Amino acid sequence: MIKFLDLHKINERYRDKLDSRIKEILDSGWYLQGKQNEEFSKHFAEFCGTKYALGVANGLDALNLIIKAYGFGPGDEIIVPANTYIATILAISENGCTPVLIEPDINTYNINPRLIEEKITPRTKAIMVVHLYGQAVQMQEIWNLAKKYNLKVIEDAAQAHGAEYQGHRTGNLGDAAGFSFYPGKNLGAMGDAGAVTTNDEALYNKIKAIANYGSDRKYHHIYKGTNSRLDELQAGILDVKLQYLEDDNNKRQEIAKYYREHIKNPLITLPQTNDEKSHVWHVFVIRVKERERFQQYLTDNGIQTVIHYPTAPHKQEAYKEYSALSLPITEQIHREVISLPISPVMTSEEVETVVRIVNEFI
Ligand SMILES: *Cc1c(COP(=O)(O)O)cnc(C)c1O
Repeated sequence: MIKFLDLHKINERYRDKLDSRIKEILDSGWYLQGKQNEEFSKHFAEFCGTKYALGVANGLDALNLIIKAYGFGPGDEIIVPANTYIATILAISENGCTPVLIEPDINTYNINPRLIEEKITPRTKAIMVVHLYGQAVQMQEIWNLAKKYNLKVIEDAAQAHGAEYQGHRTGNLGDAAGFSFYPGKNLGAMGDAGAVTTNDEALYNKIKAIANYGSDRKYHHIYKGTNSRLDELQAGILDVKLQYLEDDNNKRQEIAKYYREHIKNPLITLPQTNDEKSHVWHVFVIRVKERERFQQYLTDNGIQTVIHYPTAPHKQEAYKEYSALSLPITEQIHREVISLPISPVMTSEEVETVVRIVNEFI
């Protein structure tokens, strides 16, 4: 069986370093807001090329805190791609803002910038881009619109740690970004974890306070905040794994290159990228008209697959107020996509097997 993602094998590679870091934290007797968070946030900001990074409890909180810190709320609209994991849209709803759903580009699966301007109103406050499946959004047109209409650009970078646009990494392509370190992400913790990155000192300080009970110093509360902090244990684990992220992303890029050069089947549409560095292949998403039959065929041949995602957010029960919306490209994507195994621990034999079996599908 070729697993979709073998998290045990991924973490096993760093067992010695993880063991000693976990022991160090246990021995320290200090479990929140300490040295591990200091080190990891410094290193993660360096990785992204931003001035600041702040560890938080998870990726959804990261996005939620950014919107909260900007003070966006009821009556405010936020532009967001319709084709995303529901968390992006939940972060907007949680603040009482209105998500304005935009169709993606069928070739990149990312938001289609040409469809944004017609949806901008006097109530629009921000454009939230999602670097979906690991591919950095082509930002230039987004930046131009944000400048023209005085909007904030918020990145959902939960799937794209290290992806680049014009020589800059995600997390450094807008006013603020939210990352997730859910275990299966390119940089994954051993539980829930997330981060906010930004170059804006005031915003950073505000989010840091909000995430810590609204407190800027002990027992001094300036906001009605919340509790969303990164555990020292997770920060230490992430700090160890961050050292290998670039290598791991390179391995994903090699596998993706091999898939894209060798999968040749008229029934399959391969993913497209603008350049090699813009995509870190969190998932390798292909499209197939007869998806169910294809997935069953792969299962029968020992290849595990996952669908990212089977139902579009506007077709979920939670968003029934959007159910009459017609977003044909988003809906087509949700009908046809299926993700092949891709991970830094796949062997070349496994990669070749996937190609052979996929090519033999008729
Ligand atoms: C994983 C993910 C999130 C949420 O991250 P959590 O850490 O699970 O809260 C948000 N947006 C996207 C696109 C994601 O893939």
